[in-house]
Amino acid sequence: MPHHTPLIGTIVAGLVMAFFMGALAHRLRMPPIVGYLLAGVIVGPSTPGFVADSKLAAELAEIGVILLMFGVGLHFSLKDLLSVRRIALPGAIVQIAVATAMGAGLGLAMGWTVMASVIFGLALSVASTVVLLRALQSRDLVQTEKGRIAVGWLIVEDLAMVLALVLLPAVVALQNGTGGQGIEGLLRSGGLVLVKVTGFVAVMLVIGRRVIPWALHWVAHTGSRELFRLAVLAIALGVAFGAAVVFDVSFALGAFFAGMILGETQLSRRAAEETLPLRDAFAVLFFVSVGMLFDPAVVVEQPLPLLATVAIILVGKSIAAFALVRVFGYGNRTALTVSASLAQIGEFSFILAGLGVALGALPQTAQDLILAGAIISILLNPILFSLLVKRNRADDGQRARADSTGSGAGAPKRTVLVGYGRVGRLIAASLQERGEDLIVIEDQRDIAEACHQAGLELVVGDATARDVLEQAGIEAATTLLIAIPEGVEAGAIAARARAMNPALCIIARAHSDEEVADLKRRGADAVVMAEKETADRMTEICIRQGA
Ligand code: AMP
Repeated sequence: MPHHTPLIGTIVAGLVMAFFMGALAHRLRMPPIVGYLLAGVIVGPSTPGFVADSKLAAELAEIGVILLMFGVGLHFSLKDLLSVRRIALPGAIVQIAVATAMGAGLGLAMGWTVMASVIFGLALSVASTVVLLRALQSRDLVQTEKGRIAVGWLIVEDLAMVLALVLLPAVVALQNGTGGQGIEGLLRSGGLVLVKVTGFVAVMLVIGRRVIPWALHWVAHTGSRELFRLAVLAIALGVAFGAAVVFDVSFALGAFFAGMILGETQLSRRAAEETLPLRDAFAVLFFVSVGMLFDPAVVVEQPLPLLATVAIILVGKSIAAFALVRVFGYGNRTALTVSASLAQIGEFSFILAGLGVALGALPQTAQDLILAGAIISILLNPILFSLLVKRNRADDGQRARADSTGSGAGAPKRTVLVGYGRVGRLIAASLQERGEDLIVIEDQRDIAEACHQAGLELVVGDATARDVLEQAGIEAATTLLIAIPEGVEAGAIAARARAMNPALCIIARAHSDEEVADLKRRGADAVVMAEKETADRMTEICIRQGA
């Protein structure tokens, strides 16, 4: 047996260590990301023992980026993207400028060249796709207005970085007077990037929009689940890779567009489900690969510059983003969410720093500071978010109390329905006909759209999330109907809703005796088992026919 298998070794070491450290973090009530990053440090070169291949790990992480962006694209329409352009475009550009200026200031204070200082500042100005999307997804914010602004902002940053990566070698050459193409050459390179990006978008919107949905529909009609899954992966990875090779745009942007085009079809929900497990596994490898790059020595050797770097990423960038979003007339909450989601750096910063060092334009210290700054900001990001959620909750509490003092006693009947699928829509139609006060929670965009068309009040989101239940007004509701087929998820919803509203009447749907027992244990007052009801009805009809 050959034992030199670096790819297998890296995947296995990364996932196994991430699992152990993630589980430990969970036990200690810390965000799992902390565990994954630590797992990376453990399998990385800075610590003794097994050393995984950091280059391979970084490449594997790219697959995570592709699948994440593809998934976000599935829930995005061109309309959504255009609807945030007025804030995302100037917002991202001004924030990049402000963060670059702060970073460059620090670089100059450290005695680096102007070029090194500017590269350093640029590296601090871009947020990580993976960190941002995971933060938004785990809180179900992607499809909210704040989420759309943050994603739009991210895409502008992504494009700016593509431009920066292409122009950097040319600018350095120009400055060194070696093989410089002159200013016109530089402008030409920049123009070429824009032409290529436009070309890619045009090809996707004109050709991709016709071919991709057609191909997927065809595969769906073959009835083969395996082929469908394969087709979705082939589209996500193929378009991302093709975009990078042919049009020089990033993998992330390519994948986002592939997802956005599929998002317009009815198949988007199935497509999202098929890529979920892989997406999560590779996103974990992203954090492991970041951890691997971390050299703990820098904390001891450069404490003050590191502190300043982290301050720029966490405080400087946040204040700039917050102020910008407010200037555009959005509320405090939106501004806080957008600034918290951008207060970190990641993959683009590493690539930029790596290129800077390779070109001899950036000192090694700067790269070390960027890597350490990234890991620290990624570690602190979940904490920033939970502070934010707490703050919002405190606000909500105040508002709810203010509302309840205004209203009289004797709460009217109000029903919350989770799921607008085969079961939920029948319930909704009956209750609607009776003129009952009803609000639906549904997490699939296309299905939610149907619910909206039916004229029902609606919250789009995953009902296992506390803020989604809160948004549906669970605290003031009298009845909760959980009409989803997944027993474990239904149990989580029941338990959470019960904790939020002890007086609530909870009625749930189940498909096995175990689920019935579990749901009751977790707070459901009544559980209807679909199979049992079907069997009873069928028996009844059979007996009646015999009589
Ligand atoms: P069906 O099995 O056809 O009744 O469909 C169940 C519906 O519930 C689907 O439309 C799902 O999108 C929706 N659903 C499943 N889980 C959740 C959840 N956690 N939050 C909100 N909607 C959900």
